[in-house]
Amino acid sequence: MLTGIPVSKGISIGEAHILDRSKLCILKQTLGASDIDKEITRFRIAIEQTKKQMQETKKKASGVADKYSIILDTYTLLLDDDILVNDTITKIRNEKINAEWAITESLNKSLLLFDNINDDYLKGKKDDLELVVHGVIKNLLGHSQNTLADIQKPVVLITHTLSPTDMLSIPRKHVLGLATEVGGKTSHLGIFASALGIPGVVGINSLTTKVNTGDQIIIDGINGKVIPNPTKKTLEHYKTKQLEHKKYERKLLKNIERPAITLDNYRIRLMANIESINEIKTLKSFGAEGVGLYRTEFLYLSSQSFPSERDLYENFKKAAQEIAPQPIIIRTLDIGMDKQPAFLKKNDEDNPALGLRGIRMSLANPELFSIQLRAILRASFYGNVKIMYPMISDVQEVIQANSLLDKVKEEMKEKQIPYNDDIEIGAVIETPSAVICSDQILKEVDFISIGTNDLIQYILAVDRMNEQVAHLYQPYNPAILKALKQVFDNARLAGKKVSICGELGGDPLATLFLLGLSNLDSLSMDPHAIPHVKKIIGQSDMKDAKKFTEQLLNLNTTNEINCFLNDEMRKRYPLDFQ
Ligand code: PEP
Ligand code: MG
Repeated sequence: MLTGIPVSKGISIGEAHILDRSKLCILKQTLGASDIDKEITRFRIAIEQTKKQMQETKKKASGVADKYSIILDTYTLLLDDDILVNDTITKIRNEKINAEWAITESLNKSLLLFDNINDDYLKGKKDDLELVVHGVIKNLLGHSQNTLADIQKPVVLITHTLSPTDMLSIPRKHVLGLATEVGGKTSHLGIFASALGIPGVVGINSLTTKVNTGDQIIIDGINGKVIPNPTKKTLEHYKTKQLEHKKYERKLLKNIERPAITLDNYRIRLMANIESINEIKTLKSFGAEGVGLYRTEFLYLSSQSFPSERDLYENFKKAAQEIAPQPIIIRTLDIGMDKQPAFLKKNDEDNPALGLRGIRMSLANPELFSIQLRAILRASFYGNVKIMYPMISDVQEVIQANSLLDKVKEEMKEKQIPYNDDIEIGAVIETPSAVICSDQILKEVDFISIGTNDLIQYILAVDRMNEQVAHLYQPYNPAILKALKQVFDNARLAGKKVSICGELGGDPLATLFLLGLSNLDSLSMDPHAIPHVKKIIGQSDMKDAKKFTEQLLNLNTTNEINCFLNDEMRKRYPLDFQ
């Protein structure tokens, strides 16, 4: 039995399919002078072919996973890259060598550059570049692209990793489960598997050397287990478990129409985190009561330049109208760190996570920020729109942002452009200083939403993207629980609403604890998590929740907290935590 990190619930049993990501065999060939132009043309055709294939994959993916189709645009941009394309052409011409060999040399040169870059985001691009070049070489060699779309029968996918292109090619009906060597709890692999409803386990060391294509294999996406070649007894056990889980999921969906209310009538609004407005149409099927976090940066990431006020306004207006009368919280731009638009090419920061991201970037570019604020305000006329500022680390930033907002409002008033003057303003609490000074921040805003993804990273000083320290990224560390308590207490004193928009809000294991912090207003999460969290709320009682939270806050270590949480939640909700 192999153990990893469960990222997408469910059990799958099937035949393993190892995704071949081995290196292609390329031979060096010397060209005659008369063949050089032909070779360059052959190379250019292969580049165009690869671009076309990427756009086709993107089309296939549209509506399934917008954020990943955006990544494909970035890949296409890599094929326009000077170093890669021009360098290869120069090599073909000067060294009189074949295109396959020349592009491999250009790739190796670029990869060396990546090794010297001290920037996590750009380092992550290394894999993307290799993948794109792999595609070009396959076209040069006349190989089929051997994408996942070629899988013709139901299989359990076993692989080192999956690129976004791979993910977009996943033939949903044929992929029963997914297990990978890389990835962490909040990695794109997990989010994607969960979005497609494919049971998934990630982060299993040397997985591909322990399984062969054709092996029977079980993926337990509930407990993070992968079992190749199970015994008859294990297989029977998991078949029963699989049936029970399916039955349980069907039951969850029965409560879609009902709001989340505790046994003693305390109502929590369950909302969705979205990255594209195309997701809005599916939200009702999960029972989402609005959008608690619209990550607007994906509008910028998919663009070749800063989107215009008109583009932003039309997008926000459409979103507001579609979700109305339910609310939508539009988070202002949070680019920086892991999210860099292609048009902002250079990022010279040594520590981008501590750099010019979120509200800092907006305040440093008031013109751009005003464009976004104006677009949100104009859209506010058409629905229940709220604004939320990310990465606040000082109350002064909220004051500054609000004063810019007032200025934009004044200008709009003068020009008689309609907007909602009472638009609610919120701040994301996701830095340690924002927790400590949450009492001050609360005075300047109507609501706060705790961004636990970043808060955990910054409080524990653990990079949320770095697999090597993934084991230290502990949502149930006592420091995190205490920080949450402090924010909730301050909000209660200020009489303001608290929401959670980080992954912790969608973890049913945390639900009772969050209820016990007393003044929880709403939870915003991956919409797939809503039915499960709703079920837990429906079986909970505030008195019990408060006692439970108090007990949890008195525990000393992460280990004690994890054990207590798992034991107690299993005891209280036996059908929900198996
Ligand atoms: C967070 O940090 O918890 C959050 C919700 O925002 P993001 O994951 O986009 O940083
Ligand atoms: Mg964040």
